[in-house]
Amino acid sequence: RTVYVNGEYLPETEAKVSIFDRGFLFADAVYEVTSVLDGKLIDFDGHAVRLQRSLDELEMASPCSKEDLLEVHRKLVELNGIDEGLIYLQVTRGSDGDRDFVFPSEDTPPSLVLFTQNKPGLADSPAAKKGAKVISIEDIRWGRRDIKTVQLLYPSMGKMMAKKAGCDDAWLVEDGYVTEGTSNNAYFVKNGTIVTRPLSNDILHGITRKAVLRMAQEAQMKIEERLFTIEEAQGADEAFTTSASAFVMPVIEIDGVQLGDGTPGPIARRLREIYLEESRNAAV
Ligand code: PLP
Repeated sequence: RTVYVNGEYLPETEAKVSIFDRGFLFADAVYEVTSVLDGKLIDFDGHAVRLQRSLDELEMASPCSKEDLLEVHRKLVELNGIDEGLIYLQVTRGSDGDRDFVFPSEDTPPSLVLFTQNKPGLADSPAAKKGAKVISIEDIRWGRRDIKTVQLLYPSMGKMMAKKAGCDDAWLVEDGYVTEGTSNNAYFVKNGTIVTRPLSNDILHGITRKAVLRMAQEAQMKIEERLFTIEEAQGADEAFTTSASAFVMPVIEIDGVQLGDGTPGPIARRLREIYLEESRNAAV
């Protein structure tokens, strides 16, 4: 695999970042994951805009322009022959060669790293045909989940808890209400209405969430953005999650309670189809 590190395209075995890099020592870094279908980028613009917002919120310097970023994404897709897959991008605050809680001086260059993940069959995924089983766990993450930082230890632990329980993923619950999934936004559908938590600092402002809600609205589906509990979702007709890496993923079970007939629901399936088709057409 050829990867990108600070201006260079290198074999992955030759790519290096300092052990003093604040991304490594303090999780002082933000990231984006953009999917690739037919060798093209899905919603590159949305990811570039959110990246800039994350950087601004953390007063981190931009490593390069949006145009240069697009160029790097495209070059990596080409060099690695990606037809379907993902591109991971990470910007860290860099380092001035020591460990210090105080940020390094402002002229310290940020680090920019990108790599591809080849995922043939990403769109036609067997997991999406089967649907996901989720468990609920307490949301004990920090209070700025709207910033896409690499502090992913708790979501990673949540995923492991789900695996140990024979499930696929975990939904996080704070003050009795579902925030989101470990790496996706969460929805349920009752009597034709799609319900999801409103945007705030409590959840990541999903790029896929924005696109799917727009498409649902265009398809005359009803949407309510409000808080909801696990119990309410368990009583739903169907449920699903959205993310750039899994698109629309039907959810068929929540904490052992089967939804509907235990197969992906019609609205989740339809939204997945619409999302994939429209996104392919708009890919760059
Ligand atoms: N929520 C969390 C916590 C995530 O980590 C992600 C994606 O990684 C999402 C939601 C979905 O966001 P997007 O649709 O931009 O991938």
